[in-house]
Amino acid sequence: MLPEATLEEFNKAQALSHDAFVEFVETHSMSAIWDQLDPVEFDFLPTRLQHKPRYISRVSQGWHGVDLDGTLAEYDHWRGLEHIGAPIPAMARRVSAWLANHEEVRIVTARFGDPQWTQQGREPYAYWCLKNFGRVLPITDRKDYAMIDLWDDRAVQVEKNTGVALVEEAQRQRDEWEARYETLLGSVGGVSPG
Ligand SMILES: [Mg+2]
Repeated sequence: MLPEATLEEFNKAQALSHDAFVEFVETHSMSAIWDQLDPVEFDFLPTRLQHKPRYISRVSQGWHGVDLDGTLAEYDHWRGLEHIGAPIPAMARRVSAWLANHEEVRIVTARFGDPQWTQQGREPYAYWCLKNFGRVLPITDRKDYAMIDLWDDRAVQVEKNTGVALVEEAQRQRDEWEARYETLLGSVGGVSPG
């Protein structure tokens, strides 16, 4: 008799990793939380689970926000809502990996708030997504509480609760180590090897 899963445990395992989730699903009974789960395709589940219904928590596990222009799609200058640049490989691979991992990805773009979006932008966007990711990615121009992270070429990441810009802090540390290295070289240089 397998122990009954709680929704809290289920969500935790699902958020942790594939392996943790698969292990959890294999070692627990879902009957107590059955009505809170939705069936989905889980290709990664081991074949011995194929006879069981496949499911995922309906509670949002959070989503990755990805900007379009300059982040996921090449951008040089504004060409209109109909035009979306070629996918940027490194970012597109990241998005594909999330999708393969059943993680939710939403495109966060100001295009969505354009008054002409529905008439001019929506259809080209859908085709662009289908061509490059095999599905139409949800699109929004706003955050909500479930947003895990936001990938954006204009965003500047600050350290939580400090206001420190991480990019500036990284540069400061590089400068500091470089100065120490120079000092070290100077002191070593004063010693004759012979
Ligand atoms: Mg951008």
